[in-house]
Amino acid sequence: MILAGTEGAVVEISLKALAANYATLSARHPSGPVAGVVKADAYGLGAGKVAAHLHAQGCRHFFVAHLDEALALRPLLPGAMIAALNTMPPGAEETYAAEGIEPVLGSLEEIARWAGLARRLNRTLTALLHVDTGMHRLGLDARDLALLQHDHGRLDGVHLRYIMTHLVSSEIPDDPINETQRRRFAAACAGLPTAPRSFANSSGLFLGEGYASDLARPGAAMYGINPIPGRPNPMAPVVRLLARVLQIRDVKQGETVGYNGLWTAPRASRVATVCLGYADGWRRGMPSGTPARFDGAPVPLVGRVSMDLTTYDVTDHPRLAPGDWLELIGPHATPDDLAAASGTNGYEILTSLGTRLARVYPG
Ligand SMILES: *Cc1c(COP(=O)(O)O)cnc(C)c1O
Repeated sequence: MILAGTEGAVVEISLKALAANYATLSARHPSGPVAGVVKADAYGLGAGKVAAHLHAQGCRHFFVAHLDEALALRPLLPGAMIAALNTMPPGAEETYAAEGIEPVLGSLEEIARWAGLARRLNRTLTALLHVDTGMHRLGLDARDLALLQHDHGRLDGVHLRYIMTHLVSSEIPDDPINETQRRRFAAACAGLPTAPRSFANSSGLFLGEGYASDLARPGAAMYGINPIPGRPNPMAPVVRLLARVLQIRDVKQGETVGYNGLWTAPRASRVATVCLGYADGWRRGMPSGTPARFDGAPVPLVGRVSMDLTTYDVTDHPRLAPGDWLELIGPHATPDDLAAASGTNGYEILTSLGTRLARVYPG
């Protein structure tokens, strides 16, 4: 078995499903290519492996949050654009230019620093321009946008590869902010130098033609998270989380399991303890009853999730023994399902998966 030798818990990432999702999303966006958003270690799945595999599928545009993330990927992605979303820190301009990382410029101050470097180097530098259309987080605000629209000379020496904006509520199709942002983005671009545009994230790809652009930027959907909550998930499941059973014990009826005795055995029970807890991103708020799977059958979580351990009721599985593996994330319990059970979203379920968990890439 592929898991032999791995300590206690592993995240299994299907590169085949990743490629299928890249193809599905590309087919949804005929107006231009689909980038890979691989920030936060590709949502916890391993940015190096994930980005290299997307590159092998033909993906040539990548987004990360930090410069460090971009630098780590640079040698793995020949010929591809790598853009760092989280602004260009003062003093980092030379590194961006020397290493071929695209800054995502979101203020006049950043534009001035990048254009200044272009002048000093006496060459054209490329960049993305981020316009804020309602997120109020990053990107040119209304004042900076108006000043730039009236003075394109601020961009002398800078070639805009894309003008981009980011949707606030794309997973809620009837939220009127979507249409507002679509209009604001069109108006912003109309007053800027002509450049290709980048608009939709995962859910934005499902909002309709008005959200098509020259470059889509899906992250979550690539990794199997449902971009259209409440409707059947069109994405293939990419992630399985497996945890090894360390011990099994008999618990008498009426005895409790775990901190604060949150679960009381309703009958004489067998309880299996697996090698993973909230320090690994397995949320403490995950309630009793959250289903894992053994041998195709459901196995409910019981009691409070501990830091390094979680307990399951395996009374109905007499064959289960220490050393066996339970499937905690999989088609039966998706990141979206687990998020709903524990008060977050699928993004946080994936990005929380800790560094103690080995990542394996079968196939
Ligand atoms: C994270 C991010 C994305 C990807 O969003 P998903 O919802 O995961 O598809 C796209 N653009 C920006 C600016 C982001 O920060």
